[in-house]
Amino acid sequence: MKTISLKSMATTLLIGVVTLLAVIATQEASAQSVLLKYLRTKSSLKQADESKPRTLNLSVANSHEDLDATLWVRFAAEYKAITRQTYVAATRQLNSAVANKNWTAIPSNDSAAGSSILEGKPARPVCVIMDVDETVLDNSGYQRELILADSSFSVESWSRFVNQKVSPAVPGAKSFIDTCRRLNVAVFFVTNRDVSLEPATRENLISTGMMGPNDPDIIFSKNERPEWTSGKSVRREMIAAQYRVLLLLGDDLNDFVFVKKSNLEQRSKLERRYQHYWGQRWFMLPNPDYGSWEIAVTGGSKNSTAAEKTRLKMKTLSGQ
Ligand SMILES: [Mg+2]
Repeated sequence: MKTISLKSMATTLLIGVVTLLAVIATQEASAQSVLLKYLRTKSSLKQADESKPRTLNLSVANSHEDLDATLWVRFAAEYKAITRQTYVAATRQLNSAVANKNWTAIPSNDSAAGSSILEGKPARPVCVIMDVDETVLDNSGYQRELILADSSFSVESWSRFVNQKVSPAVPGAKSFIDTCRRLNVAVFFVTNRDVSLEPATRENLISTGMMGPNDPDIIFSKNERPEWTSGKSVRREMIAAQYRVLLLLGDDLNDFVFVKKSNLEQRSKLERRYQHYWGQRWFMLPNPDYGSWEIAVTGGSKNSTAAEKTRLKMKTLSGQ
């Protein structure tokens, strides 16, 4: 009995030692595999870093406040779907707008011509009024430049970009404009690009097929006349004095109604007040990058630092 017991104990001890050695070996192999994986990852990251252009500081670019918005406009299929959807809906409204002689997209209180705007002039020609930036021309290339340079808007860099005349058409815009021309609906571009940029704007609109080379001056730029300031009502009013305006298309509340210096609450009230116009006579394009909404949040002071603007944005977001 004693011999069997000793034998059994020795066997148990041997099995224990073998098991322990096996566990140690497995852990070592696992540790080695983790180490190898880490070294491989580190090495591939290093290679990837070296392949990047040395002039870009991507860690700075990653923190730019317009990064997500610009990526969305430039790469998201959803952005293109929304702009096409908007233009398809606007095109659908054209026929009924032409046929209905009382149809106008200009609210009586946005124009000195008032509610009598159509009286006695049923045969006046018809038109649509369109904004340019982020409505028919996609300037996300400019936002890209700003982000990669970790910079923000300036008149100089904007003018340089516009003079390159490289902005593509917003998806759906050209097809809408083609339909307008087929139906004899005049197209006017009311833009807050400065008049000094009008020749480049014209060329960009021609190269994207949204203006003909022999078209008359249908671009109404800011400062083209002393009274043509950033508010667009005066220009809309001037067009409405001669045309029946069927539709307004833009990416900013200012493209539809006078909103200058309105705060966020006043802007929301305006949006609600004209809710029956949206999708019927007024068509809004998406622009997550900039707009008068942002000025309503930050106060629009040219002297504000980036940190101060961010503080005001966070204040608005938090509701404090
Ligand atoms: Mg615009």
